[in-house]
Amino acid sequence: MVRITNLCTSCVHIITNPICPYCFSKQVITWLRDKNISSYKMSNIKRYLRKMVIEAEETPSNIRCIVCGSKRVNLCVHCFVNKATRIIENNTDRKIIDNFNEDFDTIIWRVH
Ligand SMILES: [Zn+2]
Ligand SMILES: [Zn+2]
Repeated sequence: MVRITNLCTSCVHIITNPICPYCFSKQVITWLRDKNISSYKMSNIKRYLRKMVIEAEETPSNIRCIVCGSKRVNLCVHCFVNKATRIIENNTDRKIIDNFNEDFDTIIWRVH
């Protein structure tokens, strides 16, 4: 089901299938779990993802997340993936980031 609700505060495109920063970062962490990333790097990534969630929540939003139902969606999936890509890029290697870009567009549509 595709719901068209509102605009992304970053790229100003229409947000379809809104997902909040919290649920999105949970998906990212789940995806990373079986990628053999050291716990040191993993905790760095988690720290940056938390920062991303906090930053995103500073902008008030009326768009409900399709996963948890909270009104805090202000970025589209595309912008979330871009932000997460930057975080993972700084903390892992090229191979993982290639995988992430390939997988994630598909994975994110499976969450609901
Ligand atoms: Zn966007
Ligand atoms: Zn949510």
